[in-house]
Amino acid sequence: MAKKQFKAESRRLLDMMINSIYTHREIFLRELISNASDAIDKLCFLSLTDDKVGLTREDFSIRLTVDNDARTLTVSDNGIGMTAEELEKDLGVIARSGTHAFRSEQDAGELEKADIDVIGRFGVGFYSAFMVASKVTVISRAYGQEKANRWESSGADGYTITECEKDGVGTDVVLTIKEDTDDDRFGDYLTSWKLKELVKKYSDYVRWPIRMEVETTRKIETGETDENGVPKMDWETVMEEQTVNSMVPLWQRSRKEATDEECVAFYKDTFRDSDDPAAVIRVNAEGAVSYRCLLFIPVRAPYDFYTREYRPGLRLYSNGVMIMEQCPDLLPECFRFVRGVVDSPDLSLNISREMLQHDRQLKLIANNLEKKIKSELKKLMDSDRDKYEKFYAAFGVQLKYGVVSDYGMKRELLSDLLLYWSADREKMISLKEYTDAMPESQKFIYYAGADTVERAAKLPQTEQVRARGYDILCFDHDVDEFVAQILGVYGEKPFCNVASQDLGLESDEEKAEAEKADAANRDLLAFVKEQAGDRVANVRLSRKLKNHAVCLSSEGEITLEMEKYFHSIPGSDPDAMKAVRVLELNLEHPAVKKLDEARTADPERASVMAKVLLAQAELAAGVLPDDPAAYGDLVCSLF
Ligand code: ADP
Repeated sequence: MAKKQFKAESRRLLDMMINSIYTHREIFLRELISNASDAIDKLCFLSLTDDKVGLTREDFSIRLTVDNDARTLTVSDNGIGMTAEELEKDLGVIARSGTHAFRSEQDAGELEKADIDVIGRFGVGFYSAFMVASKVTVISRAYGQEKANRWESSGADGYTITECEKDGVGTDVVLTIKEDTDDDRFGDYLTSWKLKELVKKYSDYVRWPIRMEVETTRKIETGETDENGVPKMDWETVMEEQTVNSMVPLWQRSRKEATDEECVAFYKDTFRDSDDPAAVIRVNAEGAVSYRCLLFIPVRAPYDFYTREYRPGLRLYSNGVMIMEQCPDLLPECFRFVRGVVDSPDLSLNISREMLQHDRQLKLIANNLEKKIKSELKKLMDSDRDKYEKFYAAFGVQLKYGVVSDYGMKRELLSDLLLYWSADREKMISLKEYTDAMPESQKFIYYAGADTVERAAKLPQTEQVRARGYDILCFDHDVDEFVAQILGVYGEKPFCNVASQDLGLESDEEKAEAEKADAANRDLLAFVKEQAGDRVANVRLSRKLKNHAVCLSSEGEITLEMEKYFHSIPGSDPDAMKAVRVLELNLEHPAVKKLDEARTADPERASVMAKVLLAQAELAAGVLPDDPAAYGDLVCSLF
């Protein structure tokens, strides 16, 4: 029979499995048991609503069987099974979660490193079987099917799928264990002591019984008696079927019984993350609704996190039975990055997806979790800023979207969790840290927006604000200005964009002075406005510049950054959502002084100077002149 070929990435990974000297190869058992357990979860859930399954909770188990003569170890489950198509689809490529990470690692040119790390980092599931087996056979009968199928592969040369018979629904994964070498005792995986040790170490919390024949010794009577007539006893070695795992899930255990390390290992294994989580949250709640949960805050966003493909949600159990693999209703959108499990005996088992959405108990749990996640994040921010910043680099944008979505419903919840780059301190600070450090004279929380924080910090408009000793928060993301608008105030201090007209810096006398200066320079301003045409709505003398000659600011609600954002949305109307632009001139600057002089002495040259200054203001604000080449010519004409 023609062999089917593995997909390229899978083959590469397979090669690594087969050839690499991998110290953690024993995890293969954990991976196979975890697949078996998931498959049972699925069938068990079906059995709640479908009598045809014909199994009750007590009937489900995972079985490990050793055949020493054939050198095989079989991991069997009576779970949902796989159809021929599923065998092809699911075992023909490596776990999708792993594939992407693996591919990007390859792209990064870190192939050698990938060789060593990939297994531990990505948890490659089923394929890990090839670390210990020279041949893998999967015999599976899917629920609802009469026939079974046999998938078989000896590694990189491909695999075959053939129809076969199998009693009962479920899956047997048969590993033909490799021969021992000088360095490796693969034969250990055929001994009950080793298998028992591995189950205890990696799979103790699996909810389904893992059963196997274990060698035990027991006392037996020999049939003889000693001189006192007491029967003589002897020891006999027998095989006895035992359940080798304790079956108590981690989240059902007390803190003492489940260490943080165990929880972290559970997280990495279950949610396929190579990094330790930033925080582990455990809740054991009793009251209006009882539940236990074990939640994790990741430090790195999955590759598809900011796409529609990402499926948020927590695993939902009722008394140890999984009712939903990813229940999105338990998490508010702003915390969609949180992973974990929730187990509540108060939830009805045979509840439909739609009913679940309206379930009162579930809502209560969701509300509590929201508060808990917020307080844990705040705690992390206060106690381990480095770790929090790592988390924030991955998910800060999500928190910001959370502030602006649903008409700002979650702004109170989230404003304490935001961090922004401080121009003054040159590091990330919270809004509280900003307002706490404000001098008494400062009325506003100042911010500047550009495409990077460095550019924002260098905007000409920041000069007067900084000169007064006021810090500026640097915005570098489209959503930042909307966040400031939705929040409006923080700690009763209003937000103020340094590019807006009134920065609230001047005293009444200063204002009167400025108005006088405006009047005295009316002709200059009119001249520049004429040269600028409709690229700006207004030309004014600046009250915020110090060392720079010009800057661009805006009047009204829509700022330049917002305009840029709106216009970046495909299909948006180029004439809508436009900022009312104002060109500001710094009268103290020599360039502006020269322009003013040239106005009467050489109007033509003055016209060029005005246009060049306008283009400079636009460039500093991140707006390209309409015709950059013509701008270059203008500059040259001044030489
Ligand atoms: P992952 O578990 O990360 O998805 P695996 O490579 O371990 O990756 O498994 C791929 C898929 O194969 C699983 O998602 C599951 O659909 C299917 N599968 C593996 N083992 C079993 C099993 N024992 N019973 C049913 N389906 C299984």
